[in-house]
Amino acid sequence: MALEPLPEITENQALPCAISNPDKPSTVRSEDNPYSNALLQFDRAVSHLDLRRGVTDMLRSPKRELTVNFPVMLDSGQIQMFTGYRVHHSVVRGPTKGGIRYSSDVTLDEVRALAMWMTWKCALMNLPYGGAKGGVIVNPKQLSLRELERLTRRYATEISVLMGPESDIPAPDVGTNPQVMAWIMDTYSMHRGFSVPAVVTGKPVEIGGSLGRTEATGRGVGFCILDALKIKGISPENATVAIQGFGNVGSVAARMVHELGMKVIAASCSTGGLYSSDGIDPFKVTRHLEHGGCVSNFEGVDSISNEDLLTLDCDVLIAAAVENQITSLNADRVKAKILAEGANGPTTPEADDILKDKGTFIIPDILCNAGGVTVSYLEWVQDLQSFFWPVDEINRKLQYLMARAFESVTETVQRYGVSSREAAQILAIQRISDAILIRGIYP
Ligand code: NAD
Repeated sequence: MALEPLPEITENQALPCAISNPDKPSTVRSEDNPYSNALLQFDRAVSHLDLRRGVTDMLRSPKRELTVNFPVMLDSGQIQMFTGYRVHHSVVRGPTKGGIRYSSDVTLDEVRALAMWMTWKCALMNLPYGGAKGGVIVNPKQLSLRELERLTRRYATEISVLMGPESDIPAPDVGTNPQVMAWIMDTYSMHRGFSVPAVVTGKPVEIGGSLGRTEATGRGVGFCILDALKIKGISPENATVAIQGFGNVGSVAARMVHELGMKVIAASCSTGGLYSSDGIDPFKVTRHLEHGGCVSNFEGVDSISNEDLLTLDCDVLIAAAVENQITSLNADRVKAKILAEGANGPTTPEADDILKDKGTFIIPDILCNAGGVTVSYLEWVQDLQSFFWPVDEINRKLQYLMARAFESVTETVQRYGVSSREAAQILAIQRISDAILIRGIYP
């Protein structure tokens, strides 16, 4: 028997959102709250689309949120409690994908925002994933290696009700790295009784990680900067670059732009930064960090605060640290012609408005740092097929996918007359809305 098509629900018939959740953020707007910023960005993008009201409501809230409070045995024999989260924003286009963050600043609202941005990023890149994010409130630098391993294995066990190669695939983020992913993969595999490499990405290559994954986010940032310089008519050899956050993303992006002939004049980490108008060699700074130094005590250069770095006179500013760095308080002093968002959510909506008036070319986070999830996707595919590609092939695929997404965003900017952030989100949200309606509302 043929099924009757679903009746069209008109705007007037759409029901108000009936979900009541005491953990939901206040509706009062706060520029400091990443989730509040993510929602305002979403509302701005959606205002250019003709979405069904229920679809908009569906995408405004995370699909599911898990909070876990769990004990860890410290080396001293003391038992310490920790709190962690795993949020799935959307499962419409496939399993959820998103990093795990270890930081004392982690909040549920931050994880919600990061999960939502992951949904948009995966859809923008046309990857068959929805967005997720996880986090534990912990300063990993205050734990020994063994304590970190025990915390990771316990957290992985706590969130294993959600995690799986077909359901939710974590990856590294701030404060986590390939070793942490290896412990998660091993913990999950021990519980299953056999190795499940596809349960996480960003693993060491020895256990099913992909060549090129560690560098992928920074490489993607580099590809985007090249495209943006072309649009702005600046040759790479004449471009000066400042980088906030010299971690995984920032340091790789620094080395890439240096190799492309650009002059890196400043870099920073959470404790401070370095500056040289003659330019610095990011390879030397990386070696200095590998030998236990930090960015702020690299010799032969001037020091600079994070605040001053953001407002340096330069062609490209790479924001590769954390959220809310460029806000209504400092956006009017940003002088960079191009802002490359290596981090997630570094610019607030208020700052977006100011930068728009100044004509700053923004490469939005969900495009600029999408190289990471793109190669994570390639890693997952390689794990599922148990067949691995050489690094040249990975980098070629990454470059192609980044260029395709950059081009689509540029076309959408022109078509809708919107900012690049709105354009990127418009493309993503339309794709997800289409998927929701094609799948239908269960039951
Ligand atoms: P990381 O921990 O390797 O590096 C973060 C860097 O930022 C460190 O140098 C840290 O000292 C610095 N930092 C932290 N807070 C700061 C502050 N307030 N001011 C200045 N510097 C500060 O993390 P990462 O993996 O490089 O991630 C950086 C950003 O990129 C995050 O927003 C993350 O969500 C995003 N991102 C990462 C990936 C990835 O593949 N690692 C992918 C996409 C997006």
